[in-house]
Amino acid sequence: MIVHLKKSLTTSEVQTIADELKAIVITNPDKYVLITPSALKELSSKYTSVTEAVFPMSSDIQLASADYLKNKREVLLGKGVVIGGNTHHTAIIAGPCSVESEEQIESSAQLMQKLGISTLRAGCYKPRTSPYSFQGLGLEGLKLLAKMREKYKLNIITEVRDATHIEEVIEYADIIQIGAKSMYDHGILRRCGKTNKPILLKRGFGTTLQEFVQAAEFILSGGNENVILCERGIRTFETKTRFTLDLCGAAYLKEYTNLPVILDPSHAIGYAYGVPDLSKACMAMGVDGLLIEVHPNPKIALSDASQQLNHEQFSNLFTSLKNLANAIDRKIV
Ligand code: PEP
Ligand code: MN
Repeated sequence: MIVHLKKSLTTSEVQTIADELKAIVITNPDKYVLITPSALKELSSKYTSVTEAVFPMSSDIQLASADYLKNKREVLLGKGVVIGGNTHHTAIIAGPCSVESEEQIESSAQLMQKLGISTLRAGCYKPRTSPYSFQGLGLEGLKLLAKMREKYKLNIITEVRDATHIEEVIEYADIIQIGAKSMYDHGILRRCGKTNKPILLKRGFGTTLQEFVQAAEFILSGGNENVILCERGIRTFETKTRFTLDLCGAAYLKEYTNLPVILDPSHAIGYAYGVPDLSKACMAMGVDGLLIEVHPNPKIALSDASQQLNHEQFSNLFTSLKNLANAIDRKIV
């Protein structure tokens, strides 16, 4: 249950009520928000005089639920770029899997600027499946991204792999990505609840939608309202493609949550040949964003080489996406 308490209460009165209800407290400028376990369906009448609104919830998808907020939340990605709400905006977030060198990331940044894309993605701490693969440039990569942000006026999204470097990532990034393999890392989730920067939370490839959105609840209940959900493919019996993009799941998230939803066709299929078709299907769904991997020379990419589009392929796809966006009354940002 979500309970809005009157702002006229003192913090110690709020804490007493929170303790009685076993609730988490979020302090907003105009109200206190308590979130109790969803098993609580009715509030005792002794609280009537101190409550402004009460929302009984059917599951522990609470702050993220469309039953709580009917309208999608707006999230500011940075530099005036907003998604969600009533914006009808679809953010194209593109760039290489990893920052590999200044030359490589500058080439990507130049492409984004040329196409009018506002958000550049690239990882510096890579959650690889093998300890012997390229692990990312770390802080050096973050500094290169910061340089590109200044030089090309871009928003930067980069991922946090574990809690050891989370402060660095929060400091350097405009948007913090929590990867599929880190979706359950509570150190990361809880710390991301204590910043106001937008968090792009990727769905673990073996998690249910309920588990995925509950991971988002850790961030929201920490006080950070700027959460974006990203479906990036789940593991099924199929092995011809790397993962299976769960578009049904995306439809569920659009309908039943109040958070912007982004799709990642690149990591889902894992092969560049399918990324243009899948991206168009994603755009046609009317989602809040697409995350697409692009590399100046995919053949020599140090991570996810098979799925990255080259600049020409991406530029052609971008033209098609703009036409599709027009057709469904959305604007690419
Ligand atoms: C990535 O975005 O490069 C990445 C590692 O994604 P995921 O966490 O979805 O595997
Ligand atoms: Mn990648």
